Amino acid sequence: MVPRETDVLIVGAGPTGLSLALSLAQAGCGFVIVDRIAAGANTSRAAVIHSNTLEMLEPLGVADTILEQAHIVPRFSVRSRDARLLTVDFTALPTRYPFTTMISQAVTEAILEARLGALGHRVHRAFEVTDLAEGIDGVDATLRGPDGAVSRMRAGYVAGADGMHSVVRQAARIPFEGSAYEGSFVLADVTMDWGLARDEVDLFFAPEGLVVVAPLPEGRHRIVATVGEAPPEPTVDDVQRILDARGPRGEAARVREVVWGSRFRVHHRLAGRYHQGRMVLAGDAAHVHSPAGGQGMNTGIVDACVLGPRLAGIVAGRRDREALDEYVALRRPAAERVLALSDRLTRVARLRNPVLRAARNLGLRALDRLPAFERSLAFDLSGLRHRAPPA
Ligand SMILES: Cc1cc2nc3c(=O)[nH]c(=O)nc-3n(C[C@H](O)[C@H](O)[C@H](O)COP(=O)(O)OP(=O)(O)OC[C@H]3O[C@@H](n4cnc5c(N)ncnc54)[C@H](O)[C@@H]3O)c2cc1C
Repeated sequence: MVPRETDVLIVGAGPTGLSLALSLAQAGCGFVIVDRIAAGANTSRAAVIHSNTLEMLEPLGVADTILEQAHIVPRFSVRSRDARLLTVDFTALPTRYPFTTMISQAVTEAILEARLGALGHRVHRAFEVTDLAEGIDGVDATLRGPDGAVSRMRAGYVAGADGMHSVVRQAARIPFEGSAYEGSFVLADVTMDWGLARDEVDLFFAPEGLVVVAPLPEGRHRIVATVGEAPPEPTVDDVQRILDARGPRGEAARVREVVWGSRFRVHHRLAGRYHQGRMVLAGDAAHVHSPAGGQGMNTGIVDACVLGPRLAGIVAGRRDREALDEYVALRRPAAERVLALSDRLTRVARLRNPVLRAARNLGLRALDRLPAFERSLAFDLSGLRHRAPPA
């Protein structure tokens, strides 16, 4: 059973919804969090947590646990076969977390949900929100429970952390503008023999498309590659072919096992508005983009950490509804920047024209000699350039 009334109904218990729940719990705000799936997802998906995200998660009591279970990577390199074109070093960033943190999304979600449990809250699972209707002083939600039974709940506010196909966004009649890229991404978490260092993420540009090789905990690597038509579940041979065609020649990889694999069709979309009346969006419900740069989950978590204290302030009567506009003013431009950055990375990596490719590689080598450029890219990728002010 779900309660009949709540201050805030959070729809979706992915990384965004769970972070928002923790943030509201921290602020002493009443909430109910529901998810239509019966158990937390156990697939890998996003694999990187950036510095600013860890800073935002620290007050929620989960940053140390994440670090204990993660693989720490202080550098990011762009390569073309055996040539190193550009290196971004995170170690000089002004933060307690001067690195990127590699960890499977399933583990991150499990850590967030365990922390929520430790604070005395739980996710109401196998409850799907099927309809939302806003009244004068609240939103009436219709939910379908595990046994198919329909129940209703009245919420002061509804937070849509329900992903790309958000029912909250649809109920609020907010457009989701953008399009899908041609082609798709192969994702695979593998064990393999890999000659390059395990303390950097390597992005290889190749005529066939990009491939990212990122070290994960337990000696694994995450492979992300653009392909025309990705197989639903990549095999060892599929991943080997990609690395043979695009990866290093000198230190050739030997793939042993695909532990998890999937394909990912990339959309590039941004919600026309982030809130409408008492309904507000965060995470993939508000923005989706290419995984290049590993920003998807991070942007959602930071949205949640910025929204939480503001929403709690409104519910407690300490803030007026303009606090939601403040959230939008801080986070919608952040999503616009992430869309632009991941779009640029995706397009530059996929250049097919050999002349343009040679010019790109020369340009990157030149930029590699400019410490200011490297530092600027580190600020962008880590999310630290636009730290949100406290609520
Ligand atoms: C295969 C795959 C690979 C990916 N790889 C990467 C990557 O390499 N790098 C990267 O940055 N990002 C990646 N992403 C994207 C990343 O996973 C998302 O950005 C991130 O999960 C967004 O979190 P979220 O909580 O906003 O939404 P989601 O994770 O989509 O969570 C939404 C939740 O809402 C629930 N829900 C939906 N509708 C309802 C409803 N009506 N009622 C109740 N519950 C509902 C869903 O069950 C789900 O649990 C990948 C995604 C996929 C699918």
